[in-house]
Amino acid sequence: MKKLYWTICIAIILTLGMNIEKAQASEPAQRTIGLHDKVLPIEQTRVVDGDTKVPFEEISKYLYLTVTEENGKMHIEKRDNHMIVDFAKNTTTTNGVERSGTPFMEIDGKMYISVKEIAYSMGFQIDYFRHLHTIRIYRDDYPHMDRVTYERKIADVKNNRKHATSPSDKVTVYLTFDDGPNKFTLMNNNTLEKYKVPATFFFLGNQMQQNASIVKTIHDSGHYIGSHSMTHDKNLVYQSTESFIAEMAEGAELIKQLTGQTAKLVRVPYGSTPHVTSGMKQSLIQHGYKMWDWNVDSNDWRYTDKQADQIVHNVKEGVNKAIQSGDRTIVILLHDRSQTTIALPAIIQWLQNQGYSFKTYNPNEHISHNFHKEPLL
Ligand SMILES: [Zn+2]
Repeated sequence: MKKLYWTICIAIILTLGMNIEKAQASEPAQRTIGLHDKVLPIEQTRVVDGDTKVPFEEISKYLYLTVTEENGKMHIEKRDNHMIVDFAKNTTTTNGVERSGTPFMEIDGKMYISVKEIAYSMGFQIDYFRHLHTIRIYRDDYPHMDRVTYERKIADVKNNRKHATSPSDKVTVYLTFDDGPNKFTLMNNNTLEKYKVPATFFFLGNQMQQNASIVKTIHDSGHYIGSHSMTHDKNLVYQSTESFIAEMAEGAELIKQLTGQTAKLVRVPYGSTPHVTSGMKQSLIQHGYKMWDWNVDSNDWRYTDKQADQIVHNVKEGVNKAIQSGDRTIVILLHDRSQTTIALPAIIQWLQNQGYSFKTYNPNEHISHNFHKEPLL
């Protein structure tokens, strides 16, 4: 099967005029599309015969659909769900069931798809909030807010949009640096000092033992330090609940010994999904720990020094998306690495220009921020 950029596929389909219904009349009415706890930044929604349509390009990206082409047929997949659109025959086969027609519609030269059809066929559920003109897509096996809480969030987001004097309203940014301490930790610290920005560091136990003075410097500079395990070794850390807790607690103990700071906030290696089991979560809670993941991933580790611009770009894009989806607390994942030290000044300058304020983690004002949506962590 050929991996195909959907853009090319759509261009071909539109050029050939293959069996794509053209919208005769579509209300330009604005609909809000949600996904789990988020509000998706999709702006060009349309309503045709009472059915909400969205640009296929955008929704396929947000739902992480795999779109490929084989023998002139488009395959759309997500986990075990499969849709085959045969443009020549004008049929759509969803999970083995064929129907005539395709789910696509051309509106102003763009391919649109029904939210309802793409969501249900890819194994999602839908919630309607009619008075808020909102449709939420969700999956039962993925953590998400209950209906009432989500409804309140949507009302808040809409209210903020209406009354916001600036998008920077109360946005707080937490810069977080994983995998130190090492020589790049000191470089990052110098940049933070230069711009007077507080941050949060998640250190590795084995590195702390060799770089005790860096740990002290970071503490003395006013940044919070949390444990990121002793070894960072997936097989060792996640071997059992016992090994997991021991790895996190030994790191926290070292921080306490070296700085006097109690380190109750942890960041688990590779993020809490899918590695952290419910037993591990319970153990963290019992031991009084809190666990942070992030909502903006810089993906800095993927790039070389020369590609540092890409890290800045990723942060800008991630922060904009998070804010558009209603987040007001931004936790950015960075690492103590060479390429990150190069990108950091531009990242801070941009965030400051946006008017956002920076904070270091404060255990007295703990905000729950984990992929599991576990409020006790
Ligand atoms: Zn790490």
